[in-house]
Amino acid sequence: MATGPVIQMLARNSKIAQSYQTPLGLMQLVPKMRESGTGVVVLSCSDPRLNPYQILGIDSTLKATMVRNAGGRVFDAIRTLAVLQTIGAPGTIVVMHHTDCGMTHFHDADIRKALIEVAPEEKETIDASKFGEIKGTIEESIREDLAILRASPLIKKTTQLVGLKYDIATGVLSEVAHSKSEL
Ligand SMILES: [Zn+2]
Repeated sequence: MATGPVIQMLARNSKIAQSYQTPLGLMQLVPKMRESGTGVVVLSCSDPRLNPYQILGIDSTLKATMVRNAGGRVFDAIRTLAVLQTIGAPGTIVVMHHTDCGMTHFHDADIRKALIEVAPEEKETIDASKFGEIKGTIEESIREDLAILRASPLIKKTTQLVGLKYDIATGVLSEVAHSKSEL
């Protein structure tokens, strides 16, 4: 049985579900998404202080598909971004990194050390893995990730790529890089 906060979450869900409205079925939605070409996928960090729906003003009139991982790093999201592209054909992918990110404070060496304690038998694999550290500026990590996306054979060259920086101290979002469709 679930404990602690999960009990609260289940209780809250049972209330929320009472006024739930069923969305359009996926197979009805997909042709609309593909036709419009206006779909946006936003890759951002898993940090619980960051609410991408709120930051971007997402509501019933402005939608986005959200992907989140530690740091909002592209190398770790390629599978998901590639899959989403085959389903909804988004015209734009946004990469949003933020200040005071865990990946700027905890670097790969720290993460490797902690993971080797968890799984010493996996030391070799852990030592050979990268974990998405951000050692330079947020602007640099955003540019680096847009370059990985642009170079990926799995991401359509027609996709517009936008890099955004979110300042967690002020709540202000700013555009760092913009790469238009190459075709
Ligand atoms: Zn973060």
